[in-house]
Amino acid sequence: MKYISTRSKIKPIESAEAILQGLAADGGLFVPEKIPKVKLEEIGELQDKTYEQRAAWLLGKFLTDYTEDELGECSELAYNWFDVHGRVPVSVLIQDPKNPVAPVGNMELWHGPTSAFKDVALQMLPHLMRMALKKTGETKTILILVATSGDTGKAALAGFADVPQTKIMVFYPDGGVSKIQRLQMVTQRGDNVNVTAVRGNFDDAQSGVKKIFGDKEIADKLDKLGVKLSSANSINWGRLVPQIAYYFSGYVELIRTKQIALGDKINISVPTGNFGNILAAYYALRMGLPVKKLICASNVNNVLTEFFATGTYNRKREFFKTITPSMDILISSNLERLLFHESGNDFKQVARYMNELNIKGKYTVDKSLKARLDKIFHAEYVTEDETKNFIKRIFGSFKYLVDTHTAVSIAALSKYRGRTKDFTPVLNAATASPYKFTGAVLEALEQKVEGVDDLAQLKQLNYLTNVKVPRNLSELADAKILHEDVCDKDEMADRVLKFAAR
Ligand SMILES: *Cc1c(COP(=O)(O)O)cnc(C)c1O
Repeated sequence: MKYISTRSKIKPIESAEAILQGLAADGGLFVPEKIPKVKLEEIGELQDKTYEQRAAWLLGKFLTDYTEDELGECSELAYNWFDVHGRVPVSVLIQDPKNPVAPVGNMELWHGPTSAFKDVALQMLPHLMRMALKKTGETKTILILVATSGDTGKAALAGFADVPQTKIMVFYPDGGVSKIQRLQMVTQRGDNVNVTAVRGNFDDAQSGVKKIFGDKEIADKLDKLGVKLSSANSINWGRLVPQIAYYFSGYVELIRTKQIALGDKINISVPTGNFGNILAAYYALRMGLPVKKLICASNVNNVLTEFFATGTYNRKREFFKTITPSMDILISSNLERLLFHESGNDFKQVARYMNELNIKGKYTVDKSLKARLDKIFHAEYVTEDETKNFIKRIFGSFKYLVDTHTAVSIAALSKYRGRTKDFTPVLNAATASPYKFTGAVLEALEQKVEGVDDLAQLKQLNYLTNVKVPRNLSELADAKILHEDVCDKDEMADRVLKFAAR
């Protein structure tokens, strides 16, 4: 299987190269030339496999330049300390009393070391990169640079810590992340990690990192040190492909728990930001997973809801800060891959749309493409009050606690069912532990949080609900602080060079 770009005709490359490059030279994203197909029997056989084996099986469909042993090793290393049996369990919790054949399986993607679903991919990516270095004969050290507003930084640190031939450096806005998020990062262990606070806001940190990526002089200096920069953001193919695996695994879990039979169609609901997670569900569908509809759930930053309703993507709109910060996004980068596949690999058309987005801030897809998307997707958005309301309702009915992002997709699903009367069984992507967003969850349960700090909120929510606090969060209060560096925006490049030379 070879990889091509969404924006122009390039020479197809192997997956190892695509993972190391991240972004194609023409600015496009790497996509598989053809989407592999799997047979129903093969899906059935996954029932007897562990999550690690299911993941390695899926990776093998796309990363054909890796050996079976290599993928097995990556999978074991990535998931061996997810803190729960089965790694990505599915809790079947929501039965519609009016329709007992309409279960919702809540797929808990957040049992990794940072309690958010990004771990599923970011625990895997470093190992794929490490092996890609070997395959391509690259001898330099890869330095991963991340600017974070909180969650991605910690997930990337946890993934890359002590991975050979890699280093990772994370910049976060000084005073601009929650106390828990800061503690998660500054207590990170590992000989190859650095965490530095930047005096400024997230945009300052992000534009600083972007500048370093584009600076030829810095690249030359790093080259002399035997170091090459790379990024771990969600447009890297190596972050997407591990996510496809859990949709197959979740389907099989619904069979195992007798909610469906092999071959039955399901719907999948996904809280969406950069369109990575739901795109992985789309690949699963195209591969042959029996799926009827993909429900794209958004918060009030509803650019995708409008896109799927009208065919026009318009990023020129007010930006809202919400209680689902990981979905506060106006440019959903991975949508580009969907447009490529559904337009029949029409890179010229995709390049045109992306150019219009860049210049005019919007584009409209043509009628035939819109009609194809309509067959697969349904989009809904959810307000802040609706989100909180669903947290309360779900806890009230099932004594089951969901985080704000997960509540958005369950609320969107409820709207979809109300609108369409389609009560197909659903797999819902639960993307974070409720303990990652304690303030909003406590408010949803009508508790006072003003003046209560994050660490105290953990205890308060635990006392109230009796739901277990993930260990990585409960241990934070006593963890040793290892990173206290702070710098100005214009010192960032210097800090990178110093860390690279270390
Ligand atoms: C990143 C994230 C999302 C959005 O996922 P995308 O792949 O960007 O669409 C949703 N929920 C949580 C908790 C996240 O961290």
